[in-house]
Amino acid sequence: MKILVTGGAGFIGSAVVRLAVARGHEVVNLDALTYAGCLESLASVADDPLYRFEHADIRDRAALDRIFAAHQPDAVMHLAAESHVDRSIDGPGDFIETNITGTYNMLEAGRSYWVMRGKPEGFRFHHISTDEVYGSLGPEGMFTEDTPYDPRSPYSASKASSDHLVRAWHETYGLPVVLTNCSNNYGPFHFPEKLVPVVILNALAGKPIPVYGEGLNVRDWLYVEDHADALLLVLEKGDLGRSYNIGGENEARNIDLVKTICSILDQKRPKETPYADQITFVQDRAGHDLRYAIDPSRIRDELGWRPSVTVEEGLERTVQWYLDNEDWWRTLQNREGVGQRLGTKG
Ligand code: NAD
Repeated sequence: MKILVTGGAGFIGSAVVRLAVARGHEVVNLDALTYAGCLESLASVADDPLYRFEHADIRDRAALDRIFAAHQPDAVMHLAAESHVDRSIDGPGDFIETNITGTYNMLEAGRSYWVMRGKPEGFRFHHISTDEVYGSLGPEGMFTEDTPYDPRSPYSASKASSDHLVRAWHETYGLPVVLTNCSNNYGPFHFPEKLVPVVILNALAGKPIPVYGEGLNVRDWLYVEDHADALLLVLEKGDLGRSYNIGGENEARNIDLVKTICSILDQKRPKETPYADQITFVQDRAGHDLRYAIDPSRIRDELGWRPSVTVEEGLERTVQWYLDNEDWWRTLQNREGVGQRLGTKG
């Protein structure tokens, strides 16, 4: 397949690009290289004849039309987005423009290309979204694909809007779409403002390790390389118009996740005092959803997919990756906003 991946210089997008190329697919990576885009994450495929890069913005419809015409993809995997909840609290405008208007542009550019080619049956538009569209759970229950949408942050509301647009383009115009909603990802090449890398890097730097509130929020942790594998499977085997929730089957409270990372570091990079002594509780995020948990039955039963690692194994690999790849994260730590507390202006 020739796959047009948007946001391929981001955290999950780059994992998708690396895996797709490794499996012999041609990949065109369309990315605007915002603060979150990082071509260094694609160094391993940069010179591969299967890989191409297009520096473009999904808010620019003309650029999208040109890229569809030039590359003639068989499928689209749409990951480009503003993705950080705390940034969406401080400045929601970019989230509306990229996540909603940008997705609308992708749908229209994709639709006009698909129509122009005579509506080929095998064409797919895969929209990648989040479990945050479902809102917050109490201590019990799990999100299924039928859970009503109840987004609560500017980020999740913008992603929910984009999901609705994608479904509407399927129902109204027959565009062959599939959708996925995944839980919190972690793993190599994770931008250093997200929880797992913040914990690792602050621990190593001897700085306080910030934990929001009392650390009781629960997330279902999905290793990014498992996620990339699931995304390619849904692209190839998913039913048209259908959504698939992708989870890691690894629920953990933030505080327990942080303590696990600290104990992995205690073993790998021992120092006089345990890293957990650096944990510092800070003011909670506004509207912080208590718990997300994915019921993975559909993707497991219909497509036979399960995550390959436990959270302990995935975190062990992740910590080792950050220890081995200091050049990668040091460069990114100088970017705008990184290392500051974001999401407090609301
Ligand atoms: P990321 O922030 O690491 O990467 C986003 C990428 O999109 C960057 O390379 C950025 O340059 C690019 N981009 C942003 N605006 C753009 C624009 N206007 N035009 C073109 N490119 C643009 O994000 P991520 O964590 O890799 O997330 C990828 C997708 O997965 C997003 O759609 C996100 O909503 C979804 N998702 C992420 C998670 C998670 O845990 N990270 C969980 C659920 C869903």
